[in-house]
Amino acid sequence: TDFGFTQVDKDQKQDMVAEVFHSVAAKYDIMNDLMSFGIHRVWKRFTIDCSGVRAGQKVLDLAGGTGDLAAKFSKIVGPTGQVILADINHSMLNVGKEKLINKGIMGNLHYVQANAEALPFPDNHFDLITIAFGLRNVTDKSKALASMFRVLKPGGRLLVLEFSKPETEALSKIYDAYSFHILPQMGKLVANDADSYRYLAESIRMHPDQETLEGMMQEVGFEQTSYHNLTGGIVALHRGFKF
Ligand code: SAM
Repeated sequence: TDFGFTQVDKDQKQDMVAEVFHSVAAKYDIMNDLMSFGIHRVWKRFTIDCSGVRAGQKVLDLAGGTGDLAAKFSKIVGPTGQVILADINHSMLNVGKEKLINKGIMGNLHYVQANAEALPFPDNHFDLITIAFGLRNVTDKSKALASMFRVLKPGGRLLVLEFSKPETEALSKIYDAYSFHILPQMGKLVANDADSYRYLAESIRMHPDQETLEGMMQEVGFEQTSYHNLTGGIVALHRGFKF
């Protein structure tokens, strides 16, 4: 299957993304560890360290999936704080919910099925919004960023953790070979689902690079924007504030 993003319309992309995540939900966590050699944990740890989040605050983990970030935030904000794990896909939400409840993480953590493009939350509500490996799956990224801006409190911050553009040509080549050849094979072997992992590689290639994404954030109103490359730019963490 060639998902050929450029040729499909918006509804089709949304349907494809839904299908991919329904299909991978049960195996999502193990595939994450395998495909990234566990490094996604380091990227997520860095995101938490950059969050500046404190006890009592309100956090939205958008496209939160199986809840790695939400679980950490739930501990940091404590009983007076609030964490919302929001995702458009109920299969991913269910896997996340079950996992976190089994780990005994509950109380201040809520699950909401929502589309990043039209967040069902009041204006000026959250101290922090994170979206990890989620934005590239969203059809209208600017609309989603504007929606995040709206629900952030003045003084609040957005962190976008996402695949980005490798810093060197050499790394780019190795990475392309890995993602277009080895990833789908691994997906086939472990999850019996090569297509979903081919989608993953394509969605990474189509995603805006560091500078472009920073520009998109500024366009919808984010200030003091910056980004930090991780693992040679394979991943970048973007930050922006609402004032
Ligand atoms: N944040 C988690 C992590 O880092 O492990 C999960 C990332 S997973 C690769 C991407 C998630 O984005 C999926 O759970 C998917 O359902 C969700 N997603 C895709 N499009 C979305 C949208 N428009 N609004 C909200 N979530 C979306």
